[in-house]
Amino acid sequence: MLIFAATLSSIAQQPAVRFIDADGKTIAEVPAQRREAQVYLPVDAVKRVIDPATTHQYNHPRKRLTLKIKGRQIRLQMDKPTVSIEPGGQTLTLSTPPIIIAQRPMLPIAFFKQLLPILNDVDVIYNSNLNRLQIRPKGTWTAVETDNIQNWAIIVDPGHGGDDQGCEGSTGILEKNIVLALAKQLQRISKQQGIQVYLTRETDTKRTQFERIQVAKQNRGQLFLSLHCNASFSPHEKGIRIYLNNPKGQIRFPSTTKPALTGQQLKVLTQVNFLKQSHDFARALQTELNFLTETPVQIIDLPLIALSEAYMPAVVLELGYLSNVEDLEKLSNAEYTESVSQAMTRALQRYISSVNQQTSATAIE
Ligand SMILES: [Zn+2]
Repeated sequence: MLIFAATLSSIAQQPAVRFIDADGKTIAEVPAQRREAQVYLPVDAVKRVIDPATTHQYNHPRKRLTLKIKGRQIRLQMDKPTVSIEPGGQTLTLSTPPIIIAQRPMLPIAFFKQLLPILNDVDVIYNSNLNRLQIRPKGTWTAVETDNIQNWAIIVDPGHGGDDQGCEGSTGILEKNIVLALAKQLQRISKQQGIQVYLTRETDTKRTQFERIQVAKQNRGQLFLSLHCNASFSPHEKGIRIYLNNPKGQIRFPSTTKPALTGQQLKVLTQVNFLKQSHDFARALQTELNFLTETPVQIIDLPLIALSEAYMPAVVLELGYLSNVEDLEKLSNAEYTESVSQAMTRALQRYISSVNQQTSATAIE
């Protein structure tokens, strides 16, 4: 059973919106204003982020703003959601209208989110928790031949199940339920992108490691993603971790805390064939998930018995610490887990597209 917390943690009073590119690099950081639940940016932000040659005119009495961006004329009226784009006569209805703050016209995040994909060939993703807006070339990671992407079988493994509950948060929320809900979200979102995801369990049932690997084998899985949550005796320990099965990996844990992976699960193994691909996928996950977190996602190499029988690239993704109040709150929030599932889907696209490119490059040679 999932318990959804009412709010997400701390929101800064004077936000700055960070615009980042597809790889997470900062394009610009623009001071913003918050009114009610919305964040607004000055017109200047358009120059800094979209096109330095942008000009604008603002008619005070009529509250009309005209922007000239990349040869297009964009007309807005304060407090009205409609935007007209010339030439072409296209109109757009913003989910939040522009407003006046301190006598200056201010543009809502919706303006950037909705207009940018029309002006440029880009996708825009907004993370409202961190006020980050990512602008990425459209289809960078979806430029995968439809046939190829459909041939991919991704195995997603929600950890635990049945009487094996995994760790438990102070609210009573259980790891086994968090990871199952997330796996289903991921399956749904990936399917929309044409990626076939198979789950090692669809219900709250216990599965042995052998049974999980069997699901992967039966479906000719090419990538194994195991989902878990962490717990620590330290309430401060938090964040996302990606674990890889590397027999030569250092077994190191934060000094003050006990490992979430207990001694029983740790064993030196011999399966290393897929280490490079696993690393590639881990980095794709890291790049996408970094967008959601304040601290960079760590990749940790460990001898990991849970993945030892998976003869395919494989990683364990620990989504956060249920022993940490902030992580617990986030993982109990459906909006947050949805954005995690979206990030995971983009990581799958990124990985699949890089493997397909390598394959076709090899075929040409
Ligand atoms: Zn677990």
